[in-house]
Amino acid sequence: MADLTGRTALITGGASGIGLACAEAFAAAGAEVTIADVNGDTAAAVAERLGGKHWTVDLSQTRELADLSLSTDILVNNAGIQHVRPILEFEPETFALMLRIMVEAPFLLIRASLPGMYERGFGRVINISSVHGLRASEFKSAYVTAKHALEGLSKTTALEGGPHGVTSNCINPGYVRTPLVEKQIADQAKAHGIPEEDVVEKVMLTESAIKRLVEPAEVASLAVWLAGDTAGMVNGASYTMDGGWSAR
Ligand code: NAD
Repeated sequence: MADLTGRTALITGGASGIGLACAEAFAAAGAEVTIADVNGDTAAAVAERLGGKHWTVDLSQTRELADLSLSTDILVNNAGIQHVRPILEFEPETFALMLRIMVEAPFLLIRASLPGMYERGFGRVINISSVHGLRASEFKSAYVTAKHALEGLSKTTALEGGPHGVTSNCINPGYVRTPLVEKQIADQAKAHGIPEEDVVEKVMLTESAIKRLVEPAEVASLAVWLAGDTAGMVNGASYTMDGGWSAR
């Protein structure tokens, strides 16, 4: 495991799922973590347990992030939400909300973090994208759009940050065992016209050659590696962890 002693790491959506696993893994690797989440009580409890800090923030309120200044060595853009509807039924305000949380907020947090990273000559931007940053699925127009946009933001950050010692990369998991996945089972069943108990096998795992969900800790272990010194030449990449889905 990379030694992150002396590094600071800000993890959005760090109160649950992949973000929580990242916070635990970064803290275990020696980093001082800040848990940024709209769920302030849980963020505070996680921060206390890990000896870190918390920041209660609603990342959909992007106007309030415009003049932000952040000091962090590692930024994990992880917070996200899902909404499953055919385009014809997809509420425009939900589409806009998802793009604010999953595209605009990462842009604003990167923008707020880069000056300090440039000054210190070191930075790691880790964007939790998805296999849906590289592939589409029906009924997920906003999510697929947002994750494809995040890929572009990550690559641009990689090019601008590289000369300053700042790398930017995406992690692209398939379905991960988190509340975000559990919450969409009913909607997936409705949209696909199948029983809820068939959703994992018939919708989520159809494309993966390995028939199980990804564990949050597996995603976190890749994030920790990307944050370490030995990954200094990994820049502008997108690392799939999807059991082979995107090999098709
Ligand atoms: P999760 O629901 O378990 O956790 C998401 C966290 O983000 C929660 O703590 C939530 O409070 C926080 N959050 C949501 N909206 C917020 C807002 N407006 N401001 C601040 N915080 C907010 O979800 P997860 O499955 O751990 O997903 C984390 C990331 O991983 C997301 O970007 C998601 O798209 C991505 N991802 C998830 C999967 C999966 O299958 N679970 C697969 C690929 C990518």
